[in-house]
Amino acid sequence: MATKYCAQCEQYLDTSKFWKNKARHDGWQTHCIECQKRYDKDNPEQRARRTKRWKDKRDPLAKYKGGKAQDALEQFMAGDDVTVVFTDDIEGVLEDFLGEEE
Ligand SMILES: [Zn+2]
Repeated sequence: MATKYCAQCEQYLDTSKFWKNKARHDGWQTHCIECQKRYDKDNPEQRARRTKRWKDKRDPLAKYKGGKAQDALEQFMAGDDVTVVFTDDIEGVLEDFLGEEE
């Protein structure tokens, strides 16, 4: 039985306690389902916006494909904490992506 570490609740849990995330190198969400649910409950707006924009605007992102910005965005959309990669070169991309209202 495979286990995975949840960085949020700091426990090793069975991978069945994690959602799959094909954007991640190991194929699993960073945080366990319980932690992710708690996070989404605390941030419903962010979650809705994230999901909607990710779906609506996936194609325009193709121009960033393969770059650091693309990786960072995928992690960001997947709910990971990517503050460490918020460097200058992706700042504009995130503004592009998140800054505009409907
Ligand atoms: Zn957890």
